Amino acid sequence: MTPNSMMAARFYGVQEPLRLEEIPVPELREDEVLVKIQAAGLCGSDVHIVFEGVTPTAYKPITLGHEPAGVVAGMGSRVEGWEEGERVSVVPGFWCGSCRNCVTGFPNVCLSRRIYGIQAEGALAEYLAVPARNLVRLPESVPFTVGAIITDAVATPFYALSERVALKAGETIAIFGAGGLGLHGVQVAKLLGAQKIIVVDTREEQLERARSMGADLTLNPTGSPPVEAILEATGGLGVDVAAEFVGLQATISQCVEAVAPNGRVVVVGLGADPITTVPPTVFVRKQIALLGSYGFTKRGIEQLVELAASGRLNLESSITHIFPLSEVNTALKYLHEKIENPIRVAVTL
Ligand SMILES: [Zn+2]
Ligand SMILES: [Zn+2]
Repeated sequence: MTPNSMMAARFYGVQEPLRLEEIPVPELREDEVLVKIQAAGLCGSDVHIVFEGVTPTAYKPITLGHEPAGVVAGMGSRVEGWEEGERVSVVPGFWCGSCRNCVTGFPNVCLSRRIYGIQAEGALAEYLAVPARNLVRLPESVPFTVGAIITDAVATPFYALSERVALKAGETIAIFGAGGLGLHGVQVAKLLGAQKIIVVDTREEQLERARSMGADLTLNPTGSPPVEAILEATGGLGVDVAAEFVGLQATISQCVEAVAPNGRVVVVGLGADPITTVPPTVFVRKQIALLGSYGFTKRGIEQLVELAASGRLNLESSITHIFPLSEVNTALKYLHEKIENPIRVAVTL
């Protein structure tokens, strides 16, 4: 039986610890499923929300957490095709299915989009109510922690590389920024058959990790400009694709400078400064494509779950730290202060 109340980690204000509170278990609408959360990934966005205040939540207090995995624990009257106890990853946001962006195949930028844990109640709680269409079956062979981080930390670079710039087998790619998203970008690029993967980051430890995940060449821009090294490594041409996971003016510009004629640049990193780069005389003559990429699709999450289940994608080494919900503030501190250099921090319930 589902209890009436549950523990949840609630956000009250910037630079305040999350409060562990007992709140009512959400009531189900007829099309919704109650998911008993088993694991929730923490993300850079959570650090932005809690410590920096640059990503405001839609309201306060709010339960944070937007990388959920768990088991089905209850169903609304109109839900079909699911049974209690089934293991699931949860697409961590609402999309309407009927706006212009949804019907043209871009539910990730739905005009009514609400991300759980930012604009709606999130996954750092014992239970989460979501529309049944948000569920993705999670095979026994995929741990809940992996099922959790797939939904954003892996699905975001997967969408950027497989959909937005459609990286093809045999192409070369430069990845700027080897944090959680960038490192998963390396794994995705390898999976898609990139011929050469170059990774740029100022942190030696992250470059080391990038190499262990399949990067062929790593560059630390602290000493020498990365664009020259990228040109040199590609016979003077530049890479076919450059992916930016930092969100800085300088690195976005370096991406544009580092691509070959007909090259594609995809920007995933969020930043506040305007994009300034090469003049149109270069940009136009080289036919460069510069694309933004936001979030992910349900299809991408389904594909990643299958890739993890088949063993083609190994994500277990990505989860460097696991904390129980009662230690959620320690978990956030590890991510914020980069204690023990985490890739991904998960909270288990
Ligand atoms: Zn996130
Ligand atoms: Zn929509």
